[in-house]
Amino acid sequence: MKGSMLIISGPSGSGKSSLMNEMFKKIEDIYFSISTTTRDIRDGEVDGVNYHYISKEEFEQDIEEGLFLEWAKVHDNYYGTSLKPMLQALHNGKLVVLDIDVQGHKIAREKFGNSITSIFLTTANQKILKYRLSNRGTDTDEVIEKRINNAVSEMTRIKEYDYILVNDNFDETLKKLTAIAVSSRCKVSAIDTEDFISSWVY
Ligand code: 5GP
Repeated sequence: MKGSMLIISGPSGSGKSSLMNEMFKKIEDIYFSISTTTRDIRDGEVDGVNYHYISKEEFEQDIEEGLFLEWAKVHDNYYGTSLKPMLQALHNGKLVVLDIDVQGHKIAREKFGNSITSIFLTTANQKILKYRLSNRGTDTDEVIEKRINNAVSEMTRIKEYDYILVNDNFDETLKKLTAIAVSSRCKVSAIDTEDFISSWVY
């Protein structure tokens, strides 16, 4: 097995983290890629669990040293995926899950092609997203406005993804998400075909 990658993108407030956390309980051999960010830590978040939180200077140093598979500026902050732990997890046959934005998805797709299965997760409409972000109470009005504007521009790139999930019912969306994650492991690109055929013939 070569391992495979599942990318989940979508606006903050679409329910990504809660859905992924539930999915992780249902599937074995998953590796969640913990991104590095320069944004402030939110109440309830833990360094090294949700993100690795570093300064802008440290992030720029890591970019120069080529430590990221991809990185992007989202809502004025840097976010990036560290290359080394992810490659190790793939080598160990894990399903590597990345929660990254549309810019990161594009770069990862260019580098890993068909080994990636990607999902764009969103709400049924913009009003619901605004309501969820306001209700969460973690962001100022200004930040919410930025997140909504970002979501509007991200929505225009849905066609770059394999799947779209509209999270209007948590349990139903979780079922679909889990089904996609399970089937992503059955892609031919997830196995070493030559190895498989030679051991099958033997
Ligand atoms: P939040 O600040 O709500 O945690 O995340 C904001 C956005 O950054 C989300 O759309 C999330 O998917 C994206 N993001 C998180 N980590 C990464 C990363 O490593 N790379 C990229 N390109 N985007 C990321």
